[in-house]
Amino acid sequence: MAQASKSESIASPTVGGTLQASEVRTTDYPATNGPLTSSNSLDPSVVEKLRRVVGEACVLTDPDELMVYESDGLTIHKCPPTAVVIPGSVDEVAAAVKILADAGVPFAPRGAGTGLSGGALSRSGSVIFEMARLNRILEIDYENRTATVEPGVINLHISQATAPQGFHYAPDPSSQSACTIGGNIAENSGGPHCLKYGMTTDHILSVDVVLPSGEVVTLGGGGIDRPGYDLLGLFVGSEGTFGIAVRAKVKLTPLPESIQTMLAEFMTVTDASRTVSEIIAAGILPAALEMLDGVTIRAIENSIFAGGFPTDVAALLIIEVDGLAAGLDAISEVLQRICHENNARAVRVAKDETERLKLWAARKRAFGAMGRVDTDLMVQDATIPRSRLPEVLDEIYRIAERHGLEVANVFHAGDGNLHPNISFDGRDPDQVRRVKSASDQIMRLCTSVGGSITGEHGVGLDKIDFMKLIFSDEDLRRMLDVRDAFNPLGLCNPGKVIPSIKTCRFCGFAVEDFRHKVWSKHEI
Ligand SMILES: Cc1cc2nc3c(=O)[nH]c(=O)nc-3n(C[C@H](O)[C@H](O)[C@H](O)COP(=O)(O)OP(=O)(O)OC[C@H]3O[C@@H](n4cnc5c(N)ncnc54)[C@H](O)[C@@H]3O)c2cc1C
Repeated sequence: MAQASKSESIASPTVGGTLQASEVRTTDYPATNGPLTSSNSLDPSVVEKLRRVVGEACVLTDPDELMVYESDGLTIHKCPPTAVVIPGSVDEVAAAVKILADAGVPFAPRGAGTGLSGGALSRSGSVIFEMARLNRILEIDYENRTATVEPGVINLHISQATAPQGFHYAPDPSSQSACTIGGNIAENSGGPHCLKYGMTTDHILSVDVVLPSGEVVTLGGGGIDRPGYDLLGLFVGSEGTFGIAVRAKVKLTPLPESIQTMLAEFMTVTDASRTVSEIIAAGILPAALEMLDGVTIRAIENSIFAGGFPTDVAALLIIEVDGLAAGLDAISEVLQRICHENNARAVRVAKDETERLKLWAARKRAFGAMGRVDTDLMVQDATIPRSRLPEVLDEIYRIAERHGLEVANVFHAGDGNLHPNISFDGRDPDQVRRVKSASDQIMRLCTSVGGSITGEHGVGLDKIDFMKLIFSDEDLRRMLDVRDAFNPLGLCNPGKVIPSIKTCRFCGFAVEDFRHKVWSKHEI
């Protein structure tokens, strides 16, 4: 790890087979990894030191203000922090982290709070680092096709700033108008166009990190590759448990010369799922291949995000191809033929950019549209082999039905990255119990067919107990060893990603979370 150069202010533009019933096990939803509680307050002397570094107004301790930070986009997990620090520079992040490290106080970084795994919320009485003030695009280097940005820069702002020169930042989570590059790096976020262009990790060239000790290091060399271990690769997707990203150099990708977007209508989810498998099997790599089921379509069309989708279908596929104009019509024809061979009722190609953008706007606001259905939304995230889409989706609908719930599926079908969404009323304990039980069964279903417990939203707090579905205790111990290299006292975002291997018999918390206390305070 190289020492980062001092932060300088550069002016920025503002800018398969049938599923056997025995493959699905029913269990109670596993208990989360220890109780989710917050200690009441932060030592006043620590608050005072933090205020001296970032300014009076940039340390929040009022319970009303802290409530804003009690959850991320997955409201089923809630816990307010003891304080929120809002640093305005790399030096301020480093100094504030040092104060907390010296005091043995845990902390967690937070971007826009759009995360869907409970990653950016406080556990163990953590202080939250709100990164919103570090929101400048520091440099755009078209010659080398890179941009250097602060972590609080909103994903879409990079594409908006570079579009006039014919570039964009390719990873496009559906939340891209709100989520930050820091959050994207931490989650290794995906998005509709990551099917062709790759996930966040494929677009990050270097990251400056404030380690949990307060030391600032640079991971990655800004180029394609460099000698030694790929510590940058380790950091991307580490979910805020290795340190705080304070600056990143990202790749800029040229805008494609030509784009064609089509909407294919299906009267059964199975036909739409088979179409997805056949498109990929035909050797075509669309830029995006998204599926929306009937429940999702109707939620969208009943909302202000309506995209003109037909509401009488069981599923829609949005299929986009891009590249050189020459040849795109031929690929589009093959795709339409595959759709029709799989009983598509109709396939329409967006006639212009306005229609294309309208389709995407409606797709990307699907989660928002579900806000009309009920007060809370459980967004699940899992991957499965694409060839098993038809049977797994069938079983997901059956699981929801058995729990007396309605599930809506909208997802990155080309990647086999499912998002079963269940709307519910979080004030009703019985509904919450049923949602958790259904989520548990969906996760077990996906792993039983060779899938994984997350495709892009991360493990965070929500999936922590599911890690044991795919990793042994020994695997998890090795992962802790890696985490220790960055975060030896466990102070940085405790209680996330890696489940407890040992639990404290007095308090029920993961021992791993409390190493900082064991080592620095000798409290347990
Ligand atoms: C409507 C909607 C659509 C979505 N669509 C997608 C999608 O298509 N693809 C996808 O992958 N995700 C999607 N998401 C999930 C979410 O937007 C992403 O995970 C996003 O990357 C989170 O960014 P954020 O800035 O909101 O981070 P937060 O939610 O604030 O934090 C997420 C994690 O990142 C860590 N973190 C934040 N900043 C830093 C930093 N500077 N340094 C180190 N760690 C940090 C936090 O500790 C936390 O663990 C969607 C969410 C919503 C609400």
